[in-house]
Amino acid sequence: MNLKSFTTDASYASEADLQDPLKAFRDKFHHPKLNGKSVIYLCGNSLGLQPLQTASYIQEELEDWAKLGVEGHFEARHPWLPYHTFLTEPGATLVGALPEEIVHMNHLTVNLHLLMVSFYQPTPERPCILIEKGAFPSDQYAVASQLRFHGFDPKTHLLELGPRPGENCLRTEDIEAYLAQEGHRIALVLWGGINYYTGEFFDLKRITQAAHAAGAKIGFDLAHAAGNVELNLHDSAADFAAWCTYKYLNGGPGGVGGVFIHQRHLGKSEIPRFEGWWGHTVETRFKMGPTFEPMKTAEAWQLSNAPVLSMAALRASYQLFMEAGMPALLNKSKQLTAYLEFLLLTAKESKGLPIEIITPKEPQRRGCQLSIRTPEDRGEQWFHQLTQQGVIADWRFPDVIRVAPVPLYNTFTDVYRFANLLIDIITKDINSSL
Ligand SMILES: *Cc1c(COP(=O)(O)O)cnc(C)c1O
Repeated sequence: MNLKSFTTDASYASEADLQDPLKAFRDKFHHPKLNGKSVIYLCGNSLGLQPLQTASYIQEELEDWAKLGVEGHFEARHPWLPYHTFLTEPGATLVGALPEEIVHMNHLTVNLHLLMVSFYQPTPERPCILIEKGAFPSDQYAVASQLRFHGFDPKTHLLELGPRPGENCLRTEDIEAYLAQEGHRIALVLWGGINYYTGEFFDLKRITQAAHAAGAKIGFDLAHAAGNVELNLHDSAADFAAWCTYKYLNGGPGGVGGVFIHQRHLGKSEIPRFEGWWGHTVETRFKMGPTFEPMKTAEAWQLSNAPVLSMAALRASYQLFMEAGMPALLNKSKQLTAYLEFLLLTAKESKGLPIEIITPKEPQRRGCQLSIRTPEDRGEQWFHQLTQQGVIADWRFPDVIRVAPVPLYNTFTDVYRFANLLIDIITKDINSSL
Protein backbone atom coordinates (compact mmCIF):
# COMPACT_ATOMS: atom_id res chain seq x y z
CA MET A 1 0.00 0.00 0.00
CA ASN A 2 1.32 3.38 -0.86
CA LEU A 3 0.16 6.73 0.36
CA LYS A 4 0.09 8.25 -3.09
CA SER A 5 -2.31 5.67 -4.46
CA PHE A 6 -5.43 6.79 -2.54
CA THR A 7 -8.62 7.03 -4.56
CA THR A 8 -12.12 8.12 -3.61
CA ASP A 9 -13.65 4.76 -4.66
CA ALA A 10 -15.17 2.52 -2.02
CA SER A 11 -13.10 -0.30 -3.51
CA TYR A 12 -9.94 1.41 -2.28
CA ALA A 13 -11.07 1.05 1.31
CA SER A 14 -12.12 -2.57 1.02
CA GLU A 15 -8.89 -3.48 -0.75
CA ALA A 16 -6.79 -1.66 1.87
CA ASP A 17 -8.64 -3.51 4.64
CA LEU A 18 -7.97 -6.85 2.96
CA GLN A 19 -4.26 -6.08 2.76
CA ASP A 20 -4.06 -4.70 6.31
CA PRO A 21 -1.62 -6.85 8.32
CA LEU A 22 -3.43 -5.78 11.52
CA LYS A 23 -6.94 -6.60 10.27
CA ALA A 24 -7.46 -9.41 12.81
CA PHE A 25 -7.30 -6.95 15.71
CA ARG A 26 -10.64 -5.29 15.00
CA ASP A 27 -12.49 -8.41 16.12
CA LYS A 28 -10.60 -8.49 19.39
CA PHE A 29 -12.67 -5.49 20.58
CA HIS A 30 -16.28 -4.86 21.57
CA HIS A 31 -17.87 -2.38 19.17
CA PRO A 32 -20.74 -0.22 20.50
CA LYS A 33 -24.01 -0.50 18.57
CA LEU A 34 -26.73 1.91 17.60
CA ASN A 35 -30.10 0.43 16.53
CA GLY A 36 -28.46 -2.96 16.24
CA LYS A 37 -25.66 -1.76 13.96
CA SER A 38 -22.04 -1.24 14.93
CA VAL A 39 -21.26 2.44 15.14
CA ILE A 40 -18.33 4.05 13.37
CA TYR A 41 -16.22 4.64 16.45
CA LEU A 42 -13.70 7.43 15.95
CA CYS A 43 -13.38 8.44 19.58
CA GLY A 44 -10.43 6.35 20.80
CA ASN A 45 -8.77 9.67 21.68
CA SER A 46 -11.38 10.06 24.39
CA LEU A 47 -12.13 6.52 25.53
CA GLY A 48 -10.58 3.50 23.84
CA LEU A 49 -12.77 0.47 23.13
CA GLN A 50 -12.88 -2.58 25.35
CA PRO A 51 -10.76 -5.57 24.29
CA LEU A 52 -12.74 -8.83 24.41
CA GLN A 53 -10.11 -10.34 26.69
CA THR A 54 -10.40 -7.60 29.33
CA ALA A 55 -13.24 -9.39 31.11
CA SER A 56 -11.22 -12.58 31.57
CA TYR A 57 -8.22 -10.66 32.93
CA ILE A 58 -10.42 -9.00 35.54
CA GLN A 59 -12.29 -12.23 36.20
CA GLU A 60 -9.00 -13.96 37.03
CA GLU A 61 -8.33 -11.46 39.81
CA LEU A 62 -11.88 -11.75 41.13
CA GLU A 63 -11.54 -15.53 41.26
CA ASP A 64 -8.17 -15.37 42.99
CA TRP A 65 -9.53 -12.88 45.50
CA ALA A 66 -12.51 -15.18 46.16
CA LYS A 67 -10.30 -18.26 46.51
CA LEU A 68 -7.31 -16.80 48.32
CA GLY A 69 -8.33 -13.66 50.19
CA VAL A 70 -5.27 -11.81 51.40
CA GLU A 71 -2.96 -14.62 50.28
CA GLY A 72 -3.55 -13.38 46.75
CA HIS A 73 -0.80 -10.84 47.34
CA PHE A 74 1.64 -13.74 46.99
CA GLU A 75 -0.36 -16.69 45.70
CA ALA A 76 -2.54 -15.22 42.95
CA ARG A 77 -1.68 -16.36 39.43
CA HIS A 78 -0.47 -12.79 38.99
CA PRO A 79 0.48 -11.85 42.56
CA TRP A 80 -0.88 -8.51 43.71
CA LEU A 81 2.22 -7.39 45.60
CA PRO A 82 4.22 -6.78 42.40
CA TYR A 83 1.12 -6.37 40.17
CA HIS A 84 2.05 -2.92 38.89
CA THR A 85 5.37 -4.28 37.64
CA PHE A 86 3.54 -6.47 35.09
CA LEU A 87 2.70 -3.22 33.29
CA THR A 88 6.20 -1.79 33.39
CA GLU A 89 7.88 -3.47 30.40
CA PRO A 90 5.06 -2.91 27.91
CA GLY A 91 4.48 0.59 29.27
CA ALA A 92 8.18 1.42 28.82
CA THR A 93 8.14 0.00 25.29
CA LEU A 94 5.13 2.12 24.35
CA VAL A 95 6.71 5.40 25.43
CA GLY A 96 10.37 4.66 24.66
CA ALA A 97 11.61 4.59 28.23
CA LEU A 98 13.76 2.35 30.41
CA PRO A 99 11.66 0.09 32.65
CA GLU A 100 13.12 1.71 35.78
CA GLU A 101 11.80 5.08 34.56
CA ILE A 102 8.17 3.89 34.50
CA VAL A 103 5.50 3.36 37.11
CA HIS A 104 1.74 2.99 36.77
CA MET A 105 -0.23 4.58 39.59
CA ASN A 106 -3.16 6.87 40.42
CA HIS A 107 -4.61 9.03 37.65
CA LEU A 108 -3.22 11.63 35.32
CA THR A 109 -4.04 14.87 37.13
CA VAL A 110 -3.11 13.40 40.50
CA ASN A 111 0.21 12.30 39.04
CA LEU A 112 0.87 15.74 37.54
CA HIS A 113 0.51 17.19 41.02
CA LEU A 114 2.80 14.59 42.57
CA LEU A 115 5.40 15.23 39.88
CA MET A 116 5.13 18.98 40.35
CA VAL A 117 5.89 18.45 44.04
CA SER A 118 9.22 17.12 42.85
CA PHE A 119 9.92 19.19 39.76
CA TYR A 120 8.24 22.54 40.34
CA GLN A 121 10.61 24.20 42.79
CA PRO A 122 9.98 27.92 42.35
CA THR A 123 12.33 30.57 43.69
CA PRO A 124 11.66 34.33 43.84
CA GLU A 125 13.84 34.81 40.72
CA ARG A 126 12.42 31.81 38.88
CA PRO A 127 8.80 31.33 39.89
CA CYS A 128 6.84 30.81 36.64
CA ILE A 129 5.20 27.85 34.91
CA LEU A 130 4.87 27.83 31.12
CA ILE A 131 2.08 25.91 29.38
CA GLU A 132 0.64 25.86 25.86
CA LYS A 133 -2.17 28.31 25.39
CA GLY A 134 -5.42 26.36 25.35
CA ALA A 135 -3.97 23.44 27.29
CA PHE A 136 -6.47 20.84 28.51
CA PRO A 137 -8.48 22.43 31.35
CA SER A 138 -7.44 19.93 34.02
CA ASP A 139 -3.79 20.81 33.35
CA GLN A 140 -4.60 24.53 33.60
CA TYR A 141 -6.32 23.98 36.95
CA ALA A 142 -3.43 21.85 38.17
CA VAL A 143 -0.71 24.40 37.36
CA ALA A 144 -2.76 27.36 38.60
CA SER A 145 -3.37 25.62 41.91
CA GLN A 146 0.32 24.69 42.21
CA LEU A 147 1.24 28.34 41.70
CA ARG A 148 -1.23 29.47 44.36
CA PHE A 149 -0.02 26.73 46.69
CA HIS A 150 3.47 28.24 46.47
CA GLY A 151 2.13 31.75 47.02
CA PHE A 152 2.18 32.96 43.41
CA ASP A 153 -0.61 34.48 41.40
CA PRO A 154 -1.49 32.55 38.23
CA LYS A 155 -2.47 35.85 36.58
CA THR A 156 1.14 36.95 36.59
CA HIS A 157 3.09 33.72 36.99
CA LEU A 158 1.30 31.32 34.68
CA LEU A 159 2.75 31.94 31.22
CA GLU A 160 0.92 30.68 28.15
CA LEU A 161 2.33 30.47 24.66
CA GLY A 162 0.03 30.20 21.67
CA PRO A 163 0.34 30.03 17.88
CA ARG A 164 1.09 33.13 15.81
CA PRO A 165 -1.94 35.22 14.94
CA GLY A 166 -3.82 33.54 12.10
CA GLU A 167 -2.14 30.16 12.70
CA ASN A 168 -3.65 27.11 14.38
CA CYS A 169 -0.55 25.32 15.56
CA LEU A 170 2.64 26.26 17.34
CA ARG A 171 5.99 26.36 15.63
CA THR A 172 8.87 24.71 17.46
CA GLU A 173 11.14 27.65 16.69
CA ASP A 174 8.69 29.99 18.39
CA ILE A 175 8.70 27.84 21.52
CA GLU A 176 12.50 27.85 21.43
CA ALA A 177 12.64 31.61 20.97
CA TYR A 178 10.19 32.17 23.81
CA LEU A 179 12.21 29.98 26.16
CA ALA A 180 15.44 31.71 25.18
CA GLN A 181 13.86 35.04 26.03
CA GLU A 182 11.66 34.29 29.05
CA GLY A 183 13.21 31.06 30.33
CA HIS A 184 15.21 32.77 33.09
CA ARG A 185 12.00 33.25 35.11
CA ILE A 186 10.48 29.85 34.29
CA ALA A 187 10.82 27.07 36.86
CA LEU A 188 8.74 24.51 34.98
CA VAL A 189 7.45 23.93 31.49
CA LEU A 190 4.42 21.63 31.48
CA TRP A 191 3.61 20.83 27.88
CA GLY A 192 1.25 18.50 26.03
CA GLY A 193 2.80 15.79 23.89
CA ILE A 194 -0.13 16.25 21.53
CA ASN A 195 -2.46 19.20 21.86
CA TYR A 196 -5.89 17.73 22.56
CA TYR A 197 -7.67 20.35 20.44
CA THR A 198 -5.57 20.68 17.29
CA GLY A 199 -3.92 17.25 17.37
CA GLU A 200 -0.49 18.84 16.95
CA PHE A 201 2.33 16.51 18.03
CA PHE A 202 5.21 18.52 19.44
CA ASP A 203 8.92 17.90 19.05
CA LEU A 204 9.56 16.74 22.60
CA LYS A 205 13.31 16.58 22.21
CA ARG A 206 13.78 20.10 20.87
CA ILE A 207 11.39 21.62 23.41
CA THR A 208 13.18 19.75 26.19
CA GLN A 209 16.56 21.02 25.01
CA ALA A 210 15.26 24.58 24.90
CA ALA A 211 13.73 24.32 28.39
CA HIS A 212 16.90 22.84 29.84
CA ALA A 213 19.09 25.42 28.09
CA ALA A 214 16.99 28.07 29.83
CA GLY A 215 17.49 26.34 33.19
CA ALA A 216 13.88 25.18 33.54
CA LYS A 217 12.55 21.72 34.29
CA ILE A 218 10.15 20.20 31.80
CA GLY A 219 7.39 17.60 32.00
CA PHE A 220 5.02 16.35 29.31
CA ASP A 221 1.37 15.45 29.53
CA LEU A 222 1.08 12.55 27.13
CA ALA A 223 -2.67 11.92 27.46
CA HIS A 224 -3.12 12.15 23.68
CA ALA A 225 0.29 10.81 22.74
CA ALA A 226 0.73 7.54 24.64
CA GLY A 227 -0.23 4.66 22.38
CA ASN A 228 -0.80 7.07 19.48
CA VAL A 229 2.60 8.27 18.30
CA GLU A 230 6.23 7.20 18.47
CA LEU A 231 7.72 8.40 21.72
CA ASN A 232 11.34 8.23 22.87
CA LEU A 233 11.00 9.65 26.34
CA HIS A 234 14.38 8.53 27.59
CA ASP A 235 16.20 10.04 24.62
CA SER A 236 14.16 13.20 24.58
CA ALA A 237 15.43 13.64 28.16
CA ALA A 238 12.37 15.33 29.66
CA ASP A 239 12.42 15.41 33.44
CA PHE A 240 9.07 13.67 33.74
CA ALA A 241 5.89 12.74 31.90
CA ALA A 242 2.45 11.48 32.81
CA TRP A 243 -0.47 10.10 30.85
CA CYS A 244 -3.81 8.40 31.23
CA THR A 245 -4.46 4.91 29.90
CA TYR A 246 -8.13 5.09 29.02
CA LYS A 247 -7.68 7.00 25.74
CA TYR A 248 -5.52 5.34 23.09
CA LEU A 249 -4.33 2.69 25.53
CA ASN A 250 -7.81 1.15 26.03
CA GLY A 251 -7.35 0.63 29.76
CA GLY A 252 -11.01 1.36 30.56
CA PRO A 253 -12.82 4.32 32.10
CA GLY A 254 -10.84 5.93 34.89
CA GLY A 255 -7.98 3.47 34.31
CA VAL A 256 -4.70 3.72 36.19
CA GLY A 257 -2.25 6.41 35.02
CA GLY A 258 1.30 6.08 33.68
CA VAL A 259 4.34 8.02 34.86
CA PHE A 260 7.88 8.52 33.55
CA ILE A 261 10.72 9.97 35.58
CA HIS A 262 14.03 10.30 33.80
CA GLN A 263 16.81 7.98 34.94
CA ARG A 264 19.01 10.88 36.04
CA HIS A 265 16.50 11.73 38.79
CA LEU A 266 16.23 8.21 40.20
CA GLY A 267 17.82 7.39 43.54
CA LYS A 268 18.38 11.08 44.35
CA SER A 269 17.65 11.93 47.98
CA GLU A 270 17.67 15.70 47.36
CA ILE A 271 14.53 15.62 45.19
CA PRO A 272 11.46 16.41 47.30
CA ARG A 273 8.61 13.97 47.00
CA PHE A 274 5.36 12.99 48.64
CA GLU A 275 5.86 9.45 49.86
CA GLY A 276 3.92 6.37 50.87
CA TRP A 277 4.60 2.74 51.68
CA TRP A 278 4.49 1.37 48.12
CA GLY A 279 7.46 3.57 47.26
CA HIS A 280 9.49 1.98 50.05
CA THR A 281 12.12 -0.48 48.92
CA VAL A 282 10.33 -3.77 48.41
CA GLU A 283 12.83 -5.92 50.31
CA THR A 284 12.08 -4.23 53.62
CA ARG A 285 8.61 -2.75 52.93
CA PHE A 286 6.85 -5.21 55.20
CA LYS A 287 9.19 -4.76 58.12
CA MET A 288 7.07 -1.61 58.43
CA GLY A 289 9.95 0.41 59.86
CA PRO A 290 9.57 4.11 60.71
CA THR A 291 12.04 5.40 58.09
CA PHE A 292 11.28 5.61 54.41
CA GLU A 293 13.83 3.86 52.22
CA PRO A 294 12.91 4.73 48.64
CA MET A 295 12.92 2.36 45.69
CA LYS A 296 15.75 3.18 43.29
CA THR A 297 13.28 3.38 40.39
CA ALA A 298 10.29 5.54 39.47
CA GLU A 299 8.40 3.37 41.94
CA ALA A 300 9.78 5.61 44.70
CA TRP A 301 6.97 8.00 43.70
CA GLN A 302 4.30 5.32 44.22
CA LEU A 303 2.31 5.93 47.37
CA SER A 304 -0.30 3.26 47.58
CA ASN A 305 -0.76 -0.40 46.79
CA ALA A 306 -1.75 -1.17 43.23
CA PRO A 307 -5.39 -0.97 41.99
CA VAL A 308 -5.32 -4.54 40.73
CA LEU A 309 -8.72 -4.63 38.96
CA SER A 310 -7.97 -1.56 36.88
CA MET A 311 -4.45 -2.79 36.19
CA ALA A 312 -5.85 -6.12 35.03
CA ALA A 313 -7.80 -4.25 32.35
CA LEU A 314 -4.66 -2.46 31.25
CA ARG A 315 -2.68 -5.71 31.12
CA ALA A 316 -5.28 -7.06 28.70
CA SER A 317 -4.89 -4.08 26.41
CA TYR A 318 -1.08 -3.91 26.65
CA GLN A 319 -0.96 -7.50 25.54
CA LEU A 320 -2.71 -6.53 22.28
CA PHE A 321 -0.33 -3.61 21.78
CA MET A 322 2.64 -5.92 22.22
CA GLU A 323 1.15 -8.46 19.78
CA ALA A 324 0.52 -5.84 17.14
CA GLY A 325 3.76 -3.93 17.79
CA MET A 326 4.07 -0.17 17.75
CA PRO A 327 5.90 0.01 14.37
CA ALA A 328 3.03 -1.75 12.56
CA LEU A 329 0.46 0.34 14.41
CA LEU A 330 2.21 3.57 13.52
CA ASN A 331 2.48 2.56 9.90
CA LYS A 332 -1.23 1.83 9.66
CA SER A 333 -2.10 4.92 11.67
CA LYS A 334 -0.29 7.19 9.23
CA GLN A 335 -2.09 5.61 6.30
CA LEU A 336 -5.55 5.74 7.89
CA THR A 337 -5.18 9.39 8.81
CA ALA A 338 -3.66 10.40 5.49
CA TYR A 339 -6.54 8.60 3.76
CA LEU A 340 -9.09 10.48 5.84
CA GLU A 341 -7.34 13.75 5.05
CA PHE A 342 -7.26 12.85 1.36
CA LEU A 343 -11.01 12.13 1.23
CA LEU A 344 -11.95 15.32 3.06
CA LEU A 345 -9.60 17.58 1.14
CA THR A 346 -10.59 16.10 -2.21
CA ALA A 347 -14.26 16.80 -1.43
CA LYS A 348 -13.43 20.22 -0.05
CA GLU A 349 -11.81 21.12 -3.34
CA SER A 350 -14.31 19.54 -5.72
CA LYS A 351 -17.47 20.52 -3.83
CA GLY A 352 -16.30 23.66 -2.05
CA LEU A 353 -16.94 22.34 1.45
CA PRO A 354 -16.47 25.07 4.08
CA ILE A 355 -14.17 23.05 6.34
CA GLU A 356 -10.57 23.34 7.41
CA ILE A 357 -8.32 20.67 8.89
CA ILE A 358 -6.39 22.45 11.62
CA THR A 359 -4.17 19.49 12.48
CA PRO A 360 -0.68 19.74 10.93
CA LYS A 361 -0.28 18.11 7.51
CA GLU A 362 3.15 16.64 8.16
CA PRO A 363 2.82 13.02 9.38
CA GLN A 364 5.60 13.56 11.97
CA ARG A 365 3.65 16.45 13.51
CA ARG A 366 0.47 14.52 14.30
CA GLY A 367 -0.93 11.21 15.47
CA CYS A 368 -4.14 9.69 14.18
CA GLN A 369 -6.44 12.56 15.22
CA LEU A 370 -7.71 15.13 12.74
CA SER A 371 -9.47 18.25 13.98
CA ILE A 372 -11.93 19.57 11.46
CA ARG A 373 -12.90 23.21 11.84
CA THR A 374 -16.44 24.01 10.73
CA PRO A 375 -18.39 27.25 10.33
CA GLU A 376 -19.42 28.19 13.85
CA ASP A 377 -23.13 28.36 13.05
CA ARG A 378 -23.26 24.99 11.20
CA GLY A 379 -20.71 22.65 12.74
CA GLU A 380 -22.57 21.47 15.81
CA GLN A 381 -25.63 20.68 13.68
CA TRP A 382 -23.47 18.58 11.32
CA PHE A 383 -21.97 16.84 14.29
CA HIS A 384 -25.44 15.91 15.61
CA GLN A 385 -26.41 14.51 12.25
CA LEU A 386 -23.26 12.40 12.24
CA THR A 387 -24.18 11.07 15.66
CA GLN A 388 -27.71 10.19 14.49
CA GLN A 389 -26.20 8.30 11.59
CA GLY A 390 -24.07 6.13 13.84
CA VAL A 391 -20.77 8.00 14.08
CA ILE A 392 -19.17 8.43 17.48
CA ALA A 393 -16.68 11.27 17.27
CA ASP A 394 -16.38 14.34 19.41
CA TRP A 395 -17.39 17.96 19.33
CA ARG A 396 -15.14 20.62 20.78
CA PHE A 397 -16.68 23.98 21.36
CA PRO A 398 -16.83 26.32 19.49
CA ASP A 399 -16.29 24.80 16.05
CA VAL A 400 -14.21 21.63 15.89
CA ILE A 401 -15.12 18.02 15.13
CA ARG A 402 -12.36 15.72 16.33
CA VAL A 403 -12.00 12.28 14.79
CA ALA A 404 -9.37 9.68 15.53
CA PRO A 405 -9.18 6.54 13.40
CA VAL A 406 -7.09 4.27 15.60
CA PRO A 407 -5.05 1.54 13.96
CA LEU A 408 -5.88 -1.24 16.46
CA TYR A 409 -9.58 -1.38 15.70
CA ASN A 410 -10.53 1.08 12.97
CA THR A 411 -10.55 0.24 9.29
CA PHE A 412 -10.20 2.05 6.00
CA THR A 413 -13.89 1.32 5.53
CA ASP A 414 -14.69 3.18 8.77
CA VAL A 415 -12.78 6.16 7.40
CA TYR A 416 -14.48 5.91 4.01
CA ARG A 417 -17.96 5.71 5.55
CA PHE A 418 -17.35 8.55 7.98
CA ALA A 419 -15.89 10.85 5.34
CA ASN A 420 -18.76 10.23 2.95
CA LEU A 421 -21.40 10.73 5.64
CA LEU A 422 -19.84 14.05 6.58
CA ILE A 423 -19.44 15.12 2.97
CA ASP A 424 -23.12 14.28 2.27
CA ILE A 425 -24.35 16.13 5.34
CA ILE A 426 -22.39 19.25 4.43
CA THR A 427 -23.27 19.15 0.74
CA LYS A 428 -26.99 18.83 1.48
CA ASP A 429 -26.78 21.65 3.98
CA ILE A 430 -24.99 24.09 1.68
CA ASN A 431 -27.22 23.21 -1.28
CA SER A 432 -30.40 23.68 0.77
CA SER A 433 -29.31 27.13 1.92
CA LEU A 434 -28.46 28.33 -1.58
C1 LIG B 1 -7.77 13.39 29.18
C2 LIG B 1 -6.85 14.39 29.76
C3 LIG B 1 -6.78 14.63 31.13
C4 LIG B 1 -7.68 13.89 32.10
O1 LIG B 1 -7.15 13.84 33.37
P1 LIG B 1 -7.60 12.71 34.42
O2 LIG B 1 -6.83 13.06 35.63
O3 LIG B 1 -7.22 11.38 33.83
O4 LIG B 1 -9.07 12.80 34.60
C5 LIG B 1 -5.85 15.56 31.58
N1 LIG B 1 -5.05 16.22 30.73
C6 LIG B 1 -5.09 16.01 29.40
C7 LIG B 1 -4.19 16.75 28.47
C8 LIG B 1 -6.01 15.11 28.87
O5 LIG B 1 -6.10 14.93 27.56
